[in-house]
Amino acid sequence: MTLKVYNTQTRAVGPFVPLEGNKVRIYACGPTIYDHAHIGNFRTFLFFDLVHRYLEWAGYEVQFVLNLTDVDDKTIEGAAKTGLSVAEFTRPFGEAFLEDSRTLGIMPVDSYPRATGFIEAMVEFVARLVDSGHAYKAEDGAVYFSIASFADYGKLKGIDSSDLKVGARVTHDEYDKEDARDFALWKAATDQDERAGAAWDSPWGRGRPGWHLECSVMSLAELGDTLDMHLGGEDLVFPHHENEIAQSEAATEQPFVRNWLHVKHLQLEGRKMSKSLGNYITVRELLDEGYDPASIRHQLISAHYRSDLNFTRVGLDASRNAVQRLLDFESRISGLQVSEGAGALPIPGLVEEALRSFESAMDQDFNTSDALGALFTMVTRVNAALDGCSEVSAADRDTVVEALESMDRVLGLLEVARAARSVDEDVVDWVEERIQARQRARAEGDFEAADSIRDELTEKGIVLEDGPEGTRWKVVS
Ligand code: AMP
Ligand code: ZN
Repeated sequence: MTLKVYNTQTRAVGPFVPLEGNKVRIYACGPTIYDHAHIGNFRTFLFFDLVHRYLEWAGYEVQFVLNLTDVDDKTIEGAAKTGLSVAEFTRPFGEAFLEDSRTLGIMPVDSYPRATGFIEAMVEFVARLVDSGHAYKAEDGAVYFSIASFADYGKLKGIDSSDLKVGARVTHDEYDKEDARDFALWKAATDQDERAGAAWDSPWGRGRPGWHLECSVMSLAELGDTLDMHLGGEDLVFPHHENEIAQSEAATEQPFVRNWLHVKHLQLEGRKMSKSLGNYITVRELLDEGYDPASIRHQLISAHYRSDLNFTRVGLDASRNAVQRLLDFESRISGLQVSEGAGALPIPGLVEEALRSFESAMDQDFNTSDALGALFTMVTRVNAALDGCSEVSAADRDTVVEALESMDRVLGLLEVARAARSVDEDVVDWVEERIQARQRARAEGDFEAADSIRDELTEKGIVLEDGPEGTRWKVVS
């Protein structure tokens, strides 16, 4: 079977062919770290993870780069409001993102570049565009990309050149999705930028990069001129990715991206989940409500990435049942009596069919919904085959265990469910005892002893959170 993907640029599903043999270079637009990512963002990041996992499962060698946006209008505004530099302001949100990603079973990627680490390369890139006539410095001190200089402008979104507002300019990172205007590659530094430590020297004076520029430069620096896949949420098609194409292809004269994949936005009660609308939920909030990470992961991967997905707690309860069914199945299989004299069961055929359907679903533009269907059909059928028989052959049992493990290397549900439950009861007792000892020490005014208990727990990967309802704890490693 060959993997087929839907490419936003060609508006068609076609075979996926990497530029160079078995190697796949992927760049994905990660979070803007001015706040906690919400579960809508995580629908997108979990899709990135499924692409990553499935390509490796299918035997590709993947190089995956996910940026963390630390310099843009929003991070600077947040830093200015809190009196911190962008580096200080964004650090905890970057850490929280990585922690939430781990909780949801998102595999680490090869690199997480941040704009602040690539300023010199960005200045060089802008200079290249100015020298080749694709960019110009305007009277406001900013350097703009001239969309009239790039004949293919609009090819991703599918706008024609009569929609271009030639000569009209915009400095905001995000702007009206219907307007094609010259956009700022490099912005003149404001007092706020200086205060936030987001201003650098350049041939055009003190300034800072525009958001679109950042992704072009980081992807080129880390992965080369042509990417096999560029991933992001659907809102990034225009202007962000359109502008990335224009800058990158104008600078390198090479095709920038072979396949563009965009994830449909998660909805909450029928409306797009977004920070600007204020209708969002974070992973942490759901964990506080008592939901487990595997259920959240299941819910967010349950629909094909280009289909609607409406988040509801009823749906999350159904996901919890689905994950429980997998865990029950796993324990049933591992608890089976094995006997060489066990009668023949239709297990090899069932499992083979399930694996075939799983692979063909994933090959069809990463259809996770059908892939989950293949897994759960296997569970139902194997359960039915096992009903009324108390023994199986070792070969049959191993076939089921291996198939379950194999599909879970992509779906990651058992993996996450096991990790969340891996804190055994002895550890729980010990942590509770230590928390009580710390409380006693604090009540007696012995803060040194209290702090040393906290340190002892931290060393073991247990983090304490003191709140109005008392002290809560969690395992971070
Ligand atoms: P941001 O942190 O706003 O830069 O967004 C990070 C990623 O999440 C981008 O790829 C967005 O397109 C994506 N995203 C934002 N809102 C949603 C949503 N409701 N559902 C799915 N993805 C989203
Ligand atoms: Zn980007």
